[in-house]
This record gives sequence, structure tokens and C-alpha cells, in this order.
Amino acid sequence: MQRDEKNPNKWTNDERANGEADRLAGRAWGEEFSHVQNQANAPLFRHNGGIQVITSAGSIAGRIPKRLPELLTMERGLPALQKATQLTVKAMELLDNEATLRGAKHFGATMYSVSHWAKFYTHHWYTASRACKFGQVDSAECKCCRDGVNETTAHIFQCTDKNEVHLEHHRKLMAFLADQQLPNGLLRIIEVGIDLALLSDNTPQGETWDGDDDGSNIKKRVAQLLNDDEINTEYKEAFRQQPIIGWEYIFIGKFAKGWKNCWTERGQWATKFAILMMTWGRACWSSRNSTTFGKKTNSYAI
Ligand SMILES: [Zn+2]
Repeated sequence: MQRDEKNPNKWTNDERANGEADRLAGRAWGEEFSHVQNQANAPLFRHNGGIQVITSAGSIAGRIPKRLPELLTMERGLPALQKATQLTVKAMELLDNEATLRGAKHFGATMYSVSHWAKFYTHHWYTASRACKFGQVDSAECKCCRDGVNETTAHIFQCTDKNEVHLEHHRKLMAFLADQQLPNGLLRIIEVGIDLALLSDNTPQGETWDGDDDGSNIKKRVAQLLNDDEINTEYKEAFRQQPIIGWEYIFIGKFAKGWKNCWTERGQWATKFAILMMTWGRACWSSRNSTTFGKKTNSYAI
């Protein structure tokens, strides 16, 4: 459905908050921030700052762009976060809040970018599945790959249309990890985890998982690594924690605490790794928006 951005008064708050946050914040990331500031809808959007992180159960009130990162990791924010993301209690306990806060800071240069970060962190990307659920589009299918798959948050990373984005960011990550002189065992653990996250329909979630000796190649790789006595226990523990949260959520800032206990010789490597993965996830969403809406357009479909 095409919506005329010249007439935003006809939008519901939910449509405006979701659609505008994505579009304007997406532009604000790049070189076009001055353009966004002068954009006609920006002042309207400003008044709706409080609903940029709207959840089906309501929103967290207040000066969201400034306070949200802290709120999400505090007593008041955590239940709302859990409700929005549907993560289990165990997964919530395993979240590395420091990586969350550092990520928010890294991506929070403007109110739009904080909003954008918050939407991604709270699983509020306006995917086709979400739009379909709200009755805005007839089909939940992904329009990027046209593989007949529903466009969920996980699919944003697993979509075949994102292969180039993956290649580019995989290269960047490997260069960073080489620079950090990451031990080989940890490197192999991370690589298999990312491969797992990018494989559709195979990602275990919600429980610890040790792979499968009789399963697909990747499941065998996992089983072999976790049975390898030469790989440090801390690395295996981090690997086992991540699927409790969800391996694919590593692209949207959900890091298991265990990573920090690995390779402590390089103090900040885990946080930098977290930020690189968030950048990778964001690039997938930007690529999706470019494919879906075009690079620059005056109207867009939701
Ligand atoms: Zn797709």
C-alpha cells in the first residue's frame, strides 16, 4: 500500500512512529542528516518521540531518545523489553547490558539514530510480517528475495538478497578479529555461530544446544567444536549462552555475557565485536529498505 507522505495527518500514531523512524533515521545515519532536519515531517515526528518504541502493551513514556538506553537496562525497562522481545527470563538474565549501553552510545549521535537503534534493539522493525499483522499489507512475504518466505526480523539476516552485505561485513569482522589476535578456537566458535544465525530455519533458540554429530554439516561443526578439548571452556560457555538469547539476535545487539569472559587479554574486544555485529545488522535493514523503497523516494510502502 502506498502512503502519501504529504498527508501524514491521516496516519495513525503507530504508522507514523514506525514508518517515519525507519525512514528518517535511516537517512540520518548517512550524509543526509541536514536534509532530515529540514524535512517537513521532522517537527511532527519530534512530538511523537515517546511512541517511537511503542509496544503492543503501550510505551515507555518520557524523553525516550535520551533515556531509553539506560531505561532498557534498568528495573523499569527490563519487563517492557522482555514483553516486546518475548525473550525468556533466562535469556534476559544473560544479556550483556554493557554491550547494550555501549552500542546505544555508539549509534546515538542524534535523536533519530537513537530512535532507530531503539527500534532495532526492541525488535520493532516494521517488517512485512508486522505490517501484515496490523492489516496494512496483504502479504507477509519478503519482497527482497521473493522466495515466498515471511519477512520476520530473523529473515532480514537470512534473506538471500543480503549476501553482498554479509560478505562485506564478514570481511570487516575477520579483519577486526585478526587485529585483536583472537585465539583460533574463539574465532572458529564465532564463525560457526554467525553461519548458524544466517541459516534459515536451522537456528536453535531458547535453550542450550550442543550441535548434532549426525546432523547437517553446520550441526556437526558445532558438535565437534564443543567436544574439542583444546578449545577453552569459556569460549564454549559463551557459545552455549548465545542460542538461549538467539544467535540471530546478535545482529541486533543481544549479546551473551559470556563473551566478555573470553580473551580477557584484550579488554574491550567483546564490546567492539558487539558494535561491529550491530553495524552489520543495521546494514541488512538499510539494504532491505533500499530494495523495498528505493534509495530516495517521496513515498513508501508499509
Ligand atoms: Zn527475503
